[in-house]
Amino acid sequence: MKIGIIGAGAAGMIAAATIAENSNVNTEIFLIEKNDGIGKKVEITGGGRCNVTTGFHDIKEVLKKYPRGENFLKFAMYNFSADDVFKWIVAHGVPLKIEEDMRVFPKSNNGKDITKLFNKVFEENKVNVLLKHNVSDVQKKDDKFSVKFSYGQNMVFDFLIFTTGGNAYSHTGSTGDGYNFAKSFGHRITDLSPSLHAFTFAEKRMPLLAGISFKNVNLRIKGEKTYDFNGPFVFTHRGISGPAVFALSSMAAHEKFETKSDSHLFIDFYPDKKYEDVLSELNLSISENPKKEFINIVRTFVPKALAEIMCEDIEVGKKKCSEVSKKDMNKITELLKNMRFKISGKSPGDEFVTAGGVDLHDIDSKTMESKICPNLYFAGEILDIDGFTGGFNLQSAWSTGRLAGESISKKIA
Ligand SMILES: Cc1cc2nc3c(=O)[nH]c(=O)nc-3n(C[C@H](O)[C@H](O)[C@H](O)COP(=O)(O)OP(=O)(O)OC[C@H]3O[C@@H](n4cnc5c(N)ncnc54)[C@H](O)[C@@H]3O)c2cc1C
Repeated sequence: MKIGIIGAGAAGMIAAATIAENSNVNTEIFLIEKNDGIGKKVEITGGGRCNVTTGFHDIKEVLKKYPRGENFLKFAMYNFSADDVFKWIVAHGVPLKIEEDMRVFPKSNNGKDITKLFNKVFEENKVNVLLKHNVSDVQKKDDKFSVKFSYGQNMVFDFLIFTTGGNAYSHTGSTGDGYNFAKSFGHRITDLSPSLHAFTFAEKRMPLLAGISFKNVNLRIKGEKTYDFNGPFVFTHRGISGPAVFALSSMAAHEKFETKSDSHLFIDFYPDKKYEDVLSELNLSISENPKKEFINIVRTFVPKALAEIMCEDIEVGKKKCSEVSKKDMNKITELLKNMRFKISGKSPGDEFVTAGGVDLHDIDSKTMESKICPNLYFAGEILDIDGFTGGFNLQSAWSTGRLAGESISKKIA
């Protein structure tokens, strides 16, 4: 039996390791990768430390972190959960730690330890790792898959797994080739959009705010639907970034804010307080400090640079607290509860995953086998599955890759 796995990212590596550790000696496994090494993208996750998975144990909670694929992932995730990933990696010799924000990393803080682990498994189990092999075409003839390379001889396989990833960070090798391979077999591909990105704003004064961060705000955007998320974020030189921004970008991944002329993002700096409560706190402050400049009161609500911009926007100038009108007070409260920024784009370079991919209706969620083409399997980011930041994208790649590997092992047993 010859098994080909195209793409040595997270999903491909775990699929190959699973088959290798569960199959008999007559199985030949070929892990095919266009790069000169395996797991290039895996190594750079978590700033090079490799955020292998999440430390959250409750699978139901983990599944909620996937705006696309939550239901489909259930079987794969219960079959190989974040806890299972943790145990598997530790059992294979890489100690892990869970950090305060529940992200899981190698204790060494070195992402390369994960690819070293897989290289060891492949060596010990005689997995053929074909590096610098760029697959250019795949066809099925007489129940066998014929794989064509950019150069070199074609190869023929009994089973094939597509683990070519998405098309984000394409310099790591994930150039979206798998979408065309999948299409050529009749699979549907859903809309593809960048997710987990920062936003840029049209606002010219952003450099004045760059670096200011908040622990908990409410971010809200309106597209076809309204999306909102509470959490931390930071102002950048061009817009905003940070965990809450990434989550929001993920929820609204397919909205085309950057091409619309009137897309706005709203920030509530006091999500736990009602408009009236913020207004009455402001009223109390100004009544207690009638001689102070109004801006100094606003500065007690938000950092200085932001207070200055807010006061500029409502044109209170150097007014004393005793001089501000009821209208001014409502305007400043509106900015504190609902500050509006015009969206100019999605920040390139911060794009971590592709939302969209092979239509999940075409894949059996209990095996990862194609419903259209027998003996063809899919796993990882090539599928229409993506999650929030925090280890969830690697987790779905491990879970689906593991399931594809187990399904093939069972078939050939
Ligand atoms: C900068 C960055 C940071 C990230 N941080 C995190 C994080 O902290 N936590 C997290 O969970 N996720 C993170 N992710 C997302 C995560 O890395 C991916 O979702 C995950 O790696 C997807 O795994 P995969 O195996 O499906 O695809 P990939 O890891 O993309 O692997 C696909 C492989 O297929 C190969 N390939 C493609 N086409 C061909 C071809 N024609 N022939 C041969 N080989 C081919 C590619 O070279 C590549 O090696 C991050 C992503 C990026 C870009």
